[in-house]
Amino acid sequence: MADFSGLEHIVRENEPLSPYGWLRTGGVARYFSEPTTEEELVTLVMLCKAQGITVKLLGSGSNILVASEIVDAMIVHLSAAAFSEITVTDNYVTAKGGAKLVQLLSTAAREGLSGLESLAGIPGTVAGALKTNAGTHNDDIGQWTQAVKVLTREGEVAVREGDELRFAYRESSLNELVILEGTFALKSMDPVEVTKRTQTQWILTKTRQPRGGAGTICMFRDHGGVTAESLIESAGLKGIEMGAASLNDSCLNYLELKEGGSVDNAVVLLKHVQATVEAQTGVALIRQVEVW
Ligand SMILES: Cc1cc2nc3c(=O)[nH]c(=O)nc-3n(C[C@H](O)[C@H](O)[C@H](O)COP(=O)(O)OP(=O)(O)OC[C@H]3O[C@@H](n4cnc5c(N)ncnc54)[C@H](O)[C@@H]3O)c2cc1C
Repeated sequence: MADFSGLEHIVRENEPLSPYGWLRTGGVARYFSEPTTEEELVTLVMLCKAQGITVKLLGSGSNILVASEIVDAMIVHLSAAAFSEITVTDNYVTAKGGAKLVQLLSTAAREGLSGLESLAGIPGTVAGALKTNAGTHNDDIGQWTQAVKVLTREGEVAVREGDELRFAYRESSLNELVILEGTFALKSMDPVEVTKRTQTQWILTKTRQPRGGAGTICMFRDHGGVTAESLIESAGLKGIEMGAASLNDSCLNYLELKEGGSVDNAVVLLKHVQATVEAQTGVALIRQVEVW
């Protein structure tokens, strides 16, 4: 084992990643850690840097498919309370990276702060949402982000704001190692109204997602104003099933894996859909889900 002196209580070896991902399957992490404080996180990052160990961050795993048998890296999961605090000052809400998006939205609604309602129903953490600029067709988290606190690969804490922060469709400029927290500039509104908007959006979002949640991933990004779903339908892939993997009947851009299905089943179907859409429509779909 590498040297994690002083951090033995938070580092595990060969940790199965299946419980952490939305497909509930996949390989193991060579090293896995759930730091309990920012100091422990910084020490961990420095120890990994000194020993040439790659560090990867895991949020809720709703946008990650673990295809490798062994992910040769230190997987860091910010599940401790210290990484999920949410505070409010005037019209600004600051949420730590490990906080769930749903907690951020309910805090904003309770405080009568409007803006983030369109994110209702999107799974994941605040950091995962910032990294992937999560959103809908009309809105995304980036539009409301005022500042982001990060931990760099050199172990330094820095704040990105203004010109240093760029968001595009399902992308952000946040390429630092760890997203520690985001601050969102919102608008004052009656809490009852914000709650009503959040609930309405939640219902809308759920109608375009498969029911259940676990065993599902969202496969591809939309392409130049055309939804991935409509391209998949045009390619005649509705109803396709390969091994234990299939496409959701009503939300074609979601891959579902039956209980006991392997990650290979998912990868084979994902590649088949991509190749068929390209052959039938000429569009090379770009994966939304990140493959480890
Ligand atoms: C059923 C379903 C519905 C979905 N609907 C939508 C939708 O409507 N709109 C949408 O945009 N997305 C959607 N997604 C995709 C996904 O939910 C979002 O991308 C989400 O924001 C990912 O958050 P997460 O915490 O699960 O991140 P993860 O999947 O764990 O990670 C995503 C990326 O963020 C990085 N990351 C995580 N935490 C940190 C951190 N602290 N610091 C630095 N990097 C970090 C990871 O390394 C990875 O690169 C959906 C997914 C599913 C399964």
